[in-house]
Amino acid sequence: MRLLCRIFGHKFDNWVYAVDNSCEQIRICKRNGHKESRILHEYGEWKGASEDSCEQVRICGRDGHEERRAMPHQFGKWEYTASNSCEQARFCQRCRKKETHDQHNWGSWEYKDGNSHARTCRRCGKTVEEEHAWEHEDHSETVCQGGTEWEIYRNSTVRCSKCNDWSSYVDSSKEGAKDVGVC
Ligand SMILES: [Zn+2]
Ligand SMILES: [Zn+2]
Ligand SMILES: [Zn+2]
Ligand SMILES: [Zn+2]
Ligand SMILES: [Zn+2]
Repeated sequence: MRLLCRIFGHKFDNWVYAVDNSCEQIRICKRNGHKESRILHEYGEWKGASEDSCEQVRICGRDGHEERRAMPHQFGKWEYTASNSCEQARFCQRCRKKETHDQHNWGSWEYKDGNSHARTCRRCGKTVEEEHAWEHEDHSETVCQGGTEWEIYRNSTVRCSKCNDWSSYVDSSKEGAKDVGVC
């Protein structure tokens, strides 16, 4: 009998509750009497834990065990907390949980110096500064000469994509004509 259980696995009877008012279930192998147990609660419906709570609770009818879960909050609209501040707050309409964040009203990026640009909030006057977001661009021209197409390097431009500051320069490593095809 033991050998059969080792080869084929146990041959369990159905799960049954061990005693009243307890949620422990047991099942017994019909061949060798091996016993397994587990906890299986018999929960009722999910209900709000209280009227002003975003938590739900369900209770086991056998042993009174409670399980809780969080429900999504029901936030109202974001509103500024003061006229000279950019802090906004919103509240859950059920449990009054508060959330805050900053909602600035930024002006456009302005050139500050060779390294950075800055912008200022129209509402609270806060200024932030960051490095230019340079974008490089090569300028060249294609000409036809003696049946060959040449690409001739002119210069490069570097332009900040945010404040539009720019300068142009010649990169000597790129100078010279490049054979690109037949024309
Ligand atoms: Zn068995
Ligand atoms: Zn239970
Ligand atoms: Zn809530
Ligand atoms: Zn602001
Ligand atoms: Zn810039």
